[in-house]
Amino acid sequence: MANIKITVWSEFTEPRSVYPNGIHGAVADYLKRDSRLEVRTSQLSDPEQGLSTDLLQQTDVLVWWGHAKHGEVANERVHRIVEQVRERGMGFVALHSAHYSKPFQAILDCPGHLGGWREAGEVERIWIVQPDHPVAKGLPNPIVIESEEMYSEPFVVPPPEELVMISWFAGGEVFRSACCWHSGKGRVFYFRPGHETYRTFYHPEVLKVIANGVLWAARVIG
Ligand code: ZN
Repeated sequence: MANIKITVWSEFTEPRSVYPNGIHGAVADYLKRDSRLEVRTSQLSDPEQGLSTDLLQQTDVLVWWGHAKHGEVANERVHRIVEQVRERGMGFVALHSAHYSKPFQAILDCPGHLGGWREAGEVERIWIVQPDHPVAKGLPNPIVIESEEMYSEPFVVPPPEELVMISWFAGGEVFRSACCWHSGKGRVFYFRPGHETYRTFYHPEVLKVIANGVLWAARVIG
């Protein structure tokens, strides 16, 4: 029975040539395989930016991808998201460039800066450093993505309460890639990969981590 309500949001600036139905569409298609999840998508161009109070109140976990239009998300909507996380316990899952999204910055009260980045289609090895964590369940170690953007430390966030995975890149850089926090009553999960020009959100193991993160943020596991 589908009873855990998931909303996957995107600003939808990702190239249609890679993601015809958006990153939110690709992630939602995978999450729908789990019959416990009732999955919908919303986007910046929807009424109320796809973030109406009704929708937020009916969301158990909000999954977020954005990159170029962070500034267009209204502060009032961000305030509502933070309220839902801290006071009601809505889960929040931030993907890749969502490290600079207003909700991520507001929920964790941090700038979310990176040490650096390089968009060169490099291999990324994501090493599981906490294999008994529910987010790591059913995954190989390492997870390998053939072509991704590089992010490097320092990642300016509060120290993760649980650090599940660390990414390695060919230039020698590392990055805390799968991080868990609590904010008020809510659980917050960040997962690094997912630059919009690469096919990362079709990678079965990346999708599995996101699905595990959603279940953790919904308090179904862990
Ligand atoms: Zn990127």
